[in-house]
Amino acid sequence: MKRMNFNLIKQATRFSIRNWVVFLLASVQSLSFSAGATEQVHNNSFCQDIQQWSAFTLNPPSSKNATMAEIGAQQLLASDMLAEVVGKVFKIYSSGNLRSGELKSCLNTIPNNRGDFTSALGATFLNRSIKRLQNSRSPLISKFMKAVELEAGDVESLLFSISGHFIPDYEAGPLKAGFHRGSGSLFADIDAIDPNEWLLIIVHELSHRIDHQLRDAIISYNNDALVKSLAELAHQVSDPTQLSSEQQMQLDGWLRSGLDRGLWAEYRAWVLSFILYREGLKENLWGKIPWIENVLSRQQAKENLSHLVYRYLDPRFQNPQAGMFSLPLIQTELHFIRDHVLRSEKLPSLGNFNEILK
Ligand SMILES: [Zn+2]
Repeated sequence: MKRMNFNLIKQATRFSIRNWVVFLLASVQSLSFSAGATEQVHNNSFCQDIQQWSAFTLNPPSSKNATMAEIGAQQLLASDMLAEVVGKVFKIYSSGNLRSGELKSCLNTIPNNRGDFTSALGATFLNRSIKRLQNSRSPLISKFMKAVELEAGDVESLLFSISGHFIPDYEAGPLKAGFHRGSGSLFADIDAIDPNEWLLIIVHELSHRIDHQLRDAIISYNNDALVKSLAELAHQVSDPTQLSSEQQMQLDGWLRSGLDRGLWAEYRAWVLSFILYREGLKENLWGKIPWIENVLSRQQAKENLSHLVYRYLDPRFQNPQAGMFSLPLIQTELHFIRDHVLRSEKLPSLGNFNEILK
């Protein structure tokens, strides 16, 4: 199988690194570091490896007179040690044996180079996950990964938004995974994600990355001139029926862009994720995931998967209320569009995902 191009790995890695760092460090920052913490004993061998790598990196055995070659060899050894330990953490996590908080607690014992560690960890988790998915025997998953390979090599396509990002069983809590608006970066919290769900979460987030409609919607939704003129309009007119057809088209187009980056982006991504979930089950890429099974069990007779997903997601997305969205014109028209789509047989298009699914 063709390997993912290096550019993609590089970009994905670079973006993910930043967020792994943010994520992992954010969660340990409340634990104040003290020099004494390095003496803490950890039972898990990976923590000793991390501490050894950290100590070696901070205090390399080279003397002041070391040659460039010797320094180079030490750096190589440090990077091998790091690669080995992050690989070990990935294996422990994947096998379900990484205890919650264990990694954070261990990282707290490292003096200054946690950032290097979390960078390498993010890169390894992402790259190994991508490789596992690329090796899938499922024709659909293979097609999906080929599309990822094609699309995500393009820097532009990394510009994603996760406004209103939705993960069904964690509605009230912080996000476990997602894409950062602006950077288009993927982030994930390994402490919060069940290892059995990990690959599917990666599938879901990658699907946002290759979603053309999401990419286009971010651009049209952020059209400052249009937003300004619609805001002025909404201050003057409250009833959508009083708009000219051109004004109506502009307002609808903008509201649809908003939906295309929110509810409809999640709808597209979850339809695809659920289809690939069933594919992955057949080859034990993951085991049954209770909350997905729960959603699927709600499928009514003669209801197709798209309608099930839409019916499930729609009530879980609240319309924004702040700023322009507090004005009656915007509220009424957005409510009208959503209500119309929910009742309609014709759901929003799956866009370029149709190419993968046909
Ligand atoms: Zn999503």
